[in-house]
Amino acid sequence: MATREVENIFADILERARALDPVNTRTWFDKLTVSHMDGGSLEISCPDEATLQFLRSNCMSSFTRAAQQITGHLVGVDFSVEQHKRFLRRSRPREGGPNLHPDYIFDNFVVGPCNRLAHASCVAVSQSPGNTYNPLFLYGSAGLGKTHLLHAVCCETKRKSDKAVIQFLSCEDFVNRFIRAIEEGDLAGFQSQFRTVDMLVIDDVQFLREREQSQEEFFHTFNTLYSNSKQIILSADSPPGKIPAMEERLTSRFNWGLVARIDPPSYETRVAIVQKKAHLRGLSICDEIAEYIARKVHANIRELEGALTTIYAVASTTGEQITIELARRALDGQIEPATRHISITDIIEVVTNHFDVRLTDLQSKKRSQSIAEPRQICMYLARNLTKHSLEEVGGHLGGRDHTTVMHACSKIGEARSSNPKMHALLNELTKQITQAPQA
Ligand code: ADP
Ligand code: MG
Repeated sequence: MATREVENIFADILERARALDPVNTRTWFDKLTVSHMDGGSLEISCPDEATLQFLRSNCMSSFTRAAQQITGHLVGVDFSVEQHKRFLRRSRPREGGPNLHPDYIFDNFVVGPCNRLAHASCVAVSQSPGNTYNPLFLYGSAGLGKTHLLHAVCCETKRKSDKAVIQFLSCEDFVNRFIRAIEEGDLAGFQSQFRTVDMLVIDDVQFLREREQSQEEFFHTFNTLYSNSKQIILSADSPPGKIPAMEERLTSRFNWGLVARIDPPSYETRVAIVQKKAHLRGLSICDEIAEYIARKVHANIRELEGALTTIYAVASTTGEQITIELARRALDGQIEPATRHISITDIIEVVTNHFDVRLTDLQSKKRSQSIAEPRQICMYLARNLTKHSLEEVGGHLGGRDHTTVMHACSKIGEARSSNPKMHALLNELTKQITQAPQA
């Protein structure tokens, strides 16, 4: 295929993927390129490991559906890191840097009075690790941005110096790896992993409480790194002295550098965060809706993001425009597709009622149009509204294999785009499924 032609098809696929899953859409999708495309497979290149992880975990299904709908073929989609970046990675001294989330960078962090000190200290540390605030200790309640800032420091440090060796992990991971090292008799290996890094970042250190042996190990790790001027960054849900059952010799060390508190965001910061989150996904949101969400959700930024997700999920499953009325309805709990669990049984019930067919017909081998179409619609809706795999969906509908389900999804998906009647029907069925009272 000519390059131009591939580019055009890929642009259409991207546009369709965005429409299919606006919540996991990101503006950097524009930077994705095609490394290979033929009738049956599409390989998409992305710039780095963090975006690769994001794409593989969140976008496989929407990209596959989009590719199948646009090309009309059963296309397998995969993602990879661009060739020349792969080469660079291989030539690094150590393999496998921290697993970072591409959204969690400084540019995507909204600074307000609630988090100004925490943000500024993280920026300072990333400019000059080990030399400014050491250790840096961030604390605050859940969902206020601690993990986001830790990722951002690692990402920025890595960007400035690709050679910097960073260990970034949750406290639970630290404890589990420590336990495994003891079980496997490889304490030396564990110690060298943590005591020889340039930067050690541990999220949620409150989980060290009551873990006496892990605290002891961490104490020595801390001392080694600190005396070598290596950067230590920690986060917790409370200030050092208030973490219960944490040894005093540790909490006093946590106070040696800078302790920065993160408070719940003010109304203005919340509005800015909602706008930032929408912008990141390339979604436009009017001020009125951003303000409505910010008024409705106060304490936790994760919930603020969840509210935005709910609104977009309602709009995309019902095919409605996003208006303030829709936002109100979504957040007042009249429809909650993001939180309400939709099962294949819910879908089958609505579809069989609508077409006046029986479940046994859908599961049978019958191929007449009056049975085959509702069966395909069930498959399509199950793939769109639940997280079940192709195999699982096929299993519910008479043990059909995954290619049959894929074919059904692309056929109904195409009909949805080309046939306004089908579009309206699918919207109506989706509405009934998502609005059905919770069992
Ligand atoms: P914590 O670790 O404190 O529980 P997280 O870092 O996981 O919180 O943040 C929860 C969500 O809120 C994440 O999606 C994060 O991007 C977002 N978030 C938190 N603070 C901000 C901020 N100031 N600007 C933008 N997004 C934020
Ligand atoms: Mg966290």
